[in-house]
Amino acid sequence: MHCGDKHRHTKRRGKARFCTWCGEEIKIGEVYETWLYFDGGSRMSVYAHEECAEAWDEAAREEGGIVEVGHGDMERPKPKGTPLSDALIEAGCL
Ligand SMILES: [Zn+2]
Repeated sequence: MHCGDKHRHTKRRGKARFCTWCGEEIKIGEVYETWLYFDGGSRMSVYAHEECAEAWDEAAREEGGIVEVGHGDMERPKPKGTPLSDALIEAGCL
């Protein structure tokens, strides 16, 4: 599904973007990747959190190239370097 060139951006401002992979909003300050997806005659832009794009790549490799994802179907992977507070919440400490 990665048909166009991938571009990596940091969200700074502008209208809200939602990650196609997990359906969550890409918030200001978060890194996301965007690429064009060609489907028959239509062309659309795909947006994904950095870690979602990686998960997508991983899934595509396992599937042999293409993974179709409905908006928000997938779970957002844990960002790299999980903040301490998140780790504590997961461990039931907060
Ligand atoms: Zn995402």
